[in-house]
Amino acid sequence: MRWGTIRKPSVAWRVTPNLVDYDAVCRSFTWDAARTALDGLPGGRGLNIAYEAVDRHVAAGNGDRVAVRWRGRHGAREEWTYAQLSERSDRFAGALRAMSVQAGERVFALLPRIPDLYVAALGTLKARCVFSPLFAAFGPQPIAQRLHIGQGRVLVTTESLYRRKVAGIRESVPDLTHVLISGTWSADPAAAGVQELETLLNAAPTEFEIEPTDPEDPALLHFTSGTTGTPKGAVHVHAAAVMHHHTGRYALDLHLGDVFWCTADPGWVTGTSYGIFAPLLHGITMVVDEGEFDADRWYGIIESERVSVWYTAPTAVRMLMKTGSDVALAHDLTSLRFVASVGEPLNPEGVLWGQEVLGLPIHDNWWQTETGGIMIANFAALDIQPGSMGRPLPGVEATVLLRDAHGRIAVHDGVVEPAPPGEEGELALRPGWPSMFRTYLGDEERYRDCFVGGWYRTGDLVRRGDDGYFWFVGRGDDVIKSAGHLIGPFEVESALMEHPAVAEAGVIGVPDPVAGEAVKAFVSLHRGYQPTDELRLELLGFARSRLGAAVAPKEIAFDPDLPMTKSGKIMRRVLKARELGLPVGDLSTLEETS
Ligand code: AMP
Repeated sequence: MRWGTIRKPSVAWRVTPNLVDYDAVCRSFTWDAARTALDGLPGGRGLNIAYEAVDRHVAAGNGDRVAVRWRGRHGAREEWTYAQLSERSDRFAGALRAMSVQAGERVFALLPRIPDLYVAALGTLKARCVFSPLFAAFGPQPIAQRLHIGQGRVLVTTESLYRRKVAGIRESVPDLTHVLISGTWSADPAAAGVQELETLLNAAPTEFEIEPTDPEDPALLHFTSGTTGTPKGAVHVHAAAVMHHHTGRYALDLHLGDVFWCTADPGWVTGTSYGIFAPLLHGITMVVDEGEFDADRWYGIIESERVSVWYTAPTAVRMLMKTGSDVALAHDLTSLRFVASVGEPLNPEGVLWGQEVLGLPIHDNWWQTETGGIMIANFAALDIQPGSMGRPLPGVEATVLLRDAHGRIAVHDGVVEPAPPGEEGELALRPGWPSMFRTYLGDEERYRDCFVGGWYRTGDLVRRGDDGYFWFVGRGDDVIKSAGHLIGPFEVESALMEHPAVAEAGVIGVPDPVAGEAVKAFVSLHRGYQPTDELRLELLGFARSRLGAAVAPKEIAFDPDLPMTKSGKIMRRVLKARELGLPVGDLSTLEETS
């Protein structure tokens, strides 16, 4: 293997990892046993995520532990203990009840990463309402679309966001009866149902008794963009807490005393499952940074907060790589013990860069909105094959299903055929883990379409090695068929990115009269490189030498402004639409409106 294997332990363990004997833990694992890590509501009244995340630590006498260390955009700092978070989220739940908001109704948040976002999430769950986070950089249209699909009853936001993005769409979302403003609200009599959150919280009781909560009660509504263009609302239930805890333990290796920083915004599923719940379920301290990416700021946070476990994204890793290691070396990053990333393919260079610059390899893991929690991961104690997303979590059964040329999976007598090791197919998961989505809100048919022969289809193309490691190939809908070869755009992009000039690459199939489709690449360049014909030829030759003629791009275009989702994924669909002069579909995750 060209990138070799990173053997563990590469250094003596500072802390013994939670998962050392992978096979033994997988063999003996049951979800019932995983559930015993949580307490359940007192008196056997069910399972509520917010109780497990906050109140049970207070009940156990650990209310004075720091739950959240918050860093404001402009240098402010706050610390929130578990007891403080418990009281304020109790007040939030009480305020919802005082407004007659009922269990099961949807409470949306459109907030920057400020403490009230975390209070709103927890308070909503305590009231047994359904929490739905929106990314604060969304524009009015995606906000309206999601509020409409989710029939949002309550929206928690700021005055500035309300005026810029919500006021103009109020009429299109008639279900929205309450808008709660975090911070000050300069009263506007024309804005019906808008009030200051602080006033409501001050009037609410300091304690709220959580009603019995069935683990199957809906808790979270996460929107994800579909291939057909309309956002889909994936519904998750309170039992998801079992998965958040389980994956926090094994995939993120959380230990008591850790300081954990997940850089994802709670507007995305990672920022909720791991930017709110997993660390709190473990009773540790989590860092929340309101600011945006800035290499010096980020390294400074790791240094000053003594972050021990860091969960970030490949785009961020690449941006840090681009900044240069001298910025990293100016900081003391020795507090780090474990680093992981998710959300898109992590190129082998990223894994190794971590080892060189952070002193730790980056552990790629895989999951998606629908799965609610990490499914496949590189674990602290296990060898890493750079470029592989690792192995399934204990309790997770994953397979690769063979697809035909049209992307269909053959079913014979209700049974589907797994792909042999090394062969490409669609990643599928056996339903049954607790954070599995239960439906797409209002779209049961689309939900049912996700299943075949007893498996959940992820839509991703992967390969599994005979050692059980999974390798990402590409999204099922992006794969390219050229001259009879199935070509994974990720492989082509990865190869191009090995060239020192290339910062980002997006690869699509374009119609070709001979080969069906030809591979075309769009690349953006690192600072200091010019988009010349010489460089184009050099890149074509470079890719061809790495990939072979059948797979290498036939064409390369320079594009300094590659379309990316807000969470940093290249939008090949948009590249393709632009290339073919077609409508680009749902751009809600692309727009940069704030
Ligand atoms: P989302 O639902 O927005 O979290 O996106 C989930 C999708 O992101 C997956 O279906 C994959 O296509 C992609 N993804 C997530 N994690 C990884 C990973 N580690 N490697 C490659 N792709 C990933």
